[in-house]
This record gives sequence, structure tokens and C-alpha cells, in this order.
Amino acid sequence: MNESNTAPDDGNEQNGDGQRDFIRDIIRADLAAGRIETVVTRFPPEPNGYLHIGHAKSICLNFGVAQEFGGRCHLRFDDTNPVKEEREFIDSIQEDVRWLGFDWGQHLYFASDYFEQLYEWAEHLIRTGKAYVDDLSAEEIRAYRGTLTEPGRNSPYRDRPVAENLDLFRRMRAGEFPDGARVLRARIDMAAGNMNLRDPVLYRILHVAHPRTGDAWCIYPTYDFAHGQSDAIEGVTHSLCTLEFEDHRPLYDWLIENLPVPSRPRQYEFARLNLTHTVLSKRRLTQLVRDGHVRGWDDPRMPTLAGLRRRGVPPTAIRDFIRRVGISKSDNTVEIALLEHCIREQLNRTAERRMAVLHPLKVVIENYPEGESETLEAINNPEDPAAGTRAVPFGRELYIERSDFMEDPPRKFFRLAPGREVRLRYAYFITCRKAIKDARGEIVELRCTYDPATRGGNAPDGRKVKGTIHWVSASHALDAEVRLYDHLFNRPDPGAEGDFLADLNPDSLTVLDNCKLEPALAEATCEAAVQFERTGYFIRDPESTSDRPIFNRTVALRDTWAKLQARGGEQKDRSTR
Ligand code: ATP
Ligand code: MG
Repeated sequence: MNESNTAPDDGNEQNGDGQRDFIRDIIRADLAAGRIETVVTRFPPEPNGYLHIGHAKSICLNFGVAQEFGGRCHLRFDDTNPVKEEREFIDSIQEDVRWLGFDWGQHLYFASDYFEQLYEWAEHLIRTGKAYVDDLSAEEIRAYRGTLTEPGRNSPYRDRPVAENLDLFRRMRAGEFPDGARVLRARIDMAAGNMNLRDPVLYRILHVAHPRTGDAWCIYPTYDFAHGQSDAIEGVTHSLCTLEFEDHRPLYDWLIENLPVPSRPRQYEFARLNLTHTVLSKRRLTQLVRDGHVRGWDDPRMPTLAGLRRRGVPPTAIRDFIRRVGISKSDNTVEIALLEHCIREQLNRTAERRMAVLHPLKVVIENYPEGESETLEAINNPEDPAAGTRAVPFGRELYIERSDFMEDPPRKFFRLAPGREVRLRYAYFITCRKAIKDARGEIVELRCTYDPATRGGNAPDGRKVKGTIHWVSASHALDAEVRLYDHLFNRPDPGAEGDFLADLNPDSLTVLDNCKLEPALAEATCEAAVQFERTGYFIRDPESTSDRPIFNRTVALRDTWAKLQARGGEQKDRSTR
């Protein structure tokens, strides 16, 4: 029976013979030749941290091929190291895989479910003379292993009789020995060119409770012993992993060939995802969280799926990004700008537009009647007519961005300045009459007039204005905090020259605590990002309270003014900051 995983249809992902890469070519050939009937893959996270965008590559590949070829993909927790694993991670991983758009159906597994079977297979290896209990310490084992240029030496315990090995291994399981006293090793070849074949450790003693098996075990299988056998138990056909496991493949195969396993999985390796200006190692991400360099695993600056979600990145953008990166066999590093590009492209199509002023400057429309207001109609998404329109209140007092006014503007500044007329988006043309300053000479308010004939933003006499700016009615505005994010690291390759923490960007978070939002933003959710017109894409943060919303910037819009400056060397617009 074929079981299909449900997976999202992105429109840009093709089924079956669309996407091509060496993994899909192998699967296609295996199916065509009848070597397999149904493709079965698995995504095997270790529950010792949150999933990050690197994992998304593996998730999209494993679940993606299962979907494309009518097979299935298992979610299997590789929970063989109870020292670092926690329930919190098991829950977050499931939530994140689902959020990314994939579903494992009934196929949720844990390597720990197979502990008894794995133990029996370990005894099988002992009985067939292919495994032995070693009393050497971890340090001695390392010393005996040799180097890339020198063969290893046999352990003095390597030739123990089968009966003695069985007895010792059972006593290891029974808890008779302390941590580190003994290990079970495969008996392969201490002179093998591949270090992984120099009698690798299969079991170690760990008197640690396991999140799922509790105190049932005090010996735990290593990754190498658990992984391939778990694949075989589940009938996995293609065990897809990253390149660092290439050297483990001979051991993977050796174990499968020397055990009475129920199926014959094969391992294939692809290049892991590396991204500039961030780190994708769980050890480093854990350190950032534990030492308080970020506010948690879901800090919007983190490359974790939880962080990206909180930042407003839609899962479709991540899947599109992964598809564009593709699957290859050689390591490389992808520009984080490509991810940002995919996010902008996606949100440009789907995000509703709103008006929000991040650095407010008060504007008083002198000829607008006091105490009155009106509602104007604004388009929700020019890219999607179905998104409709909304009402935006307008009144005598407004806020505009500080950067939209200059007292003494350069030639190419088309926004507000003394005597200049601009369009207020969806509202009226206004002309600046006067800038009011405080005692220190800082501009605190603009006095303007409006032309009532320009309601909706067009002049009946056909006169044009060069600038259109956004605004928020002062008496209707929501006060909000807005958090702007920049790259977490200054260097594209954090840690390349020393401690990666030294490369942290001290300005990765900027908090603006006096922002003014149009009232429709009271209804914004933490699930869908919106575009703040002219400033970027933003999403409501779950830390918001009902009377004080907080918004995270997902990504900025490209700043055409900045581009112009770069090209023409115009006088600096000191207000665009
Ligand atoms: P660690 O950093 O602790 O070695 P890991 O990142 O390999 O852990 P796992 O939980 O073992 O984390 O990963 C689950 C799966 O995701 C593995 O198959 C792994 O190869 C894959 N994976 C992890 N990081 C990346 C990455 N950057 N790109 C692609 N796949 C990845
Ligand atoms: Mg790993």
C-alpha cells in the first residue's frame, strides 16, 4: 500500500519529474528498475535543540521526495543521548515541521522505541564474533585508534571469548558498572583506512534517565549503531543525510550486512546548508540562548524555524528558498540576502498594507476643522484585488515620519519641506507652511494646509506632486513598540577568525518605543505579516498586550533613496536612518 504524505502545493514546486537533483535521479532510477516499490524516507532530528533553517533543507528534501514520488516520510527522533535531550525539544520540533507544511501522518517514531531490538542485535554481533566488550578508557581508546597516517592497535580485550563478552555486556545493561568503565565495540579492522571502521563504539554506559524510557536503560546505543538499524526496522529505502556522514557509510553498510535486519536501506549524502551572517550549529545556537546573547530559541534574530516564524517569515518563503538553493554534493555558503529576497517576494504578494509611523513628527492641518474627522478608503494589497479595502481615519492632527521632512532639502528630495506640496497617501495634498522648533532647535511640529479638492489623493486641476508619504491620524493612532532586526553577526562567516561570539552584531536589535499605527493594526495577528507602507514587512509579536502592540520587522523594503544616493552621490539624506 502506498501512503502519501500530505505536503503543501506551492504552485512553484512541481510534482514527480519537475525538480531534478542527484537524489531525485537515484530515486527515479530505483523506482524505474523495480529495486523499490515505494520510496520511504525519514527526517531524524536529535531532540537537543530547536530546528533551524538548515534542518528545513533536510525536511523539504525528505518530505518533498516522499510526496513527489507517492511514498512516505517518517519523523523519527534520534533520541539516543539522554544527556542533552529534553521534552521541550521533542514538542517544538513537531510544531516546527508542521508549521513548515509537512505531515508525517501515523509515522512518528523514536529510536528509543527500538532499544530492545537494538540490544538483541548487539548480542547477535557478540555471538557471531563481531563485537566485544572493551575495558579501555575513552582516552586509551583514542590513543589506540591511531591517526589518518598510522594504523590503530588492537585493544588487549579484543579477543575475549564470546561467553565472557556476553556476560559482561549483560552486566553492563544490569547496571553493575559505572559510567565509562566499559563499552561495546564492533570488531572490524584497527588498520582500516577509514577511521570509522577501527572498531567503533556501539554502546556506552550512561546512568542517566531518558525522557522516554526513564530508568529502564543505563546503556545507550551510539548514533552509528542506532541509525541504520532504525532505518531498516522502518523500511526506509533512502536514508538521506549530510556530507559529514559520508565516511560513516561503510560502517552503516557493515552493520546492515552483519545483522538480520528486515530491510536494506541505503544512505546518500548531500551538502548541508550554510548561510552567511549566522550560525547553524546547534552547539553554537545553544550557547547563544544559554548565555543570553539572544532572548530565547524563538528570538526573531535566530535562524531557528521558531525565530523565523516569530519574525514573520512565511513557511512558503522558506520552502521557496530551499528549492532555489537546490540539492548538491559540494559544500557551499548561501547569501542570507537570497532568503530575504524570497521573503520579500512572498510577502509582496500576500501581505496586507497598513500605515505606521516609526519616528513620528506631528503635523497640524491648520485649515482642517477642529474636532472633526473623516474616513478614507485605502487599498489592502495592490497585488491582490481580492484583499479589498479598509477605512482609515483622517483628522486635523497627524503623524508623519521625521525623515519625510527636511528644512533645507537637497535637489532630489521629493518629500515635505517648507512651501512644498506632497500627497498624503489615500488622503489629500498638503503644503508645509511652517516648522516649529523647541528650545534646542529641534523640529517638533509642522504646520500645514490641505487642499480639500484633492480628497483621495488626486487634484481635479491635474497638478502633480512628486512625493507621496504615509501618515497616521494622531487622535486615532495606536501607540506601539517596534523592534527592528539586523543580522545577528557582523561577519558573513562568524567565527572564521576566532571566537564567533566576538562577531555578534551589537546593533542586531533596535527598539523603537514611540511608534504610531493606524487603528486597523489592532486586528493584526501573530500569524500573518503586514507591510507597513514604505518601511518594510512587520508582524505582531506574541509579547504584545491588548493596549500596547509590539511589532517585529520581518525584512525592510529596499530603500530607493539609499540606492539613489549610492549611484548619484547626492547630498546625504540625514533623515533616512
Ligand atoms: P548537531 O549540530 O548537533 O550535529 P545536527 O544539526 O546534525 O546536529 P540533527 O538533529 O542531528 O542536528 O539533524 C537532523 C537532520 O537534519 C540530520 O539528517 C542532519 O543531517 C540534517 N541537518 C542538520 N543541519 C543541516 C544543515 N545545515 N543543512 C542540511 N541538513 C541539515
Ligand atoms: Mg546530527
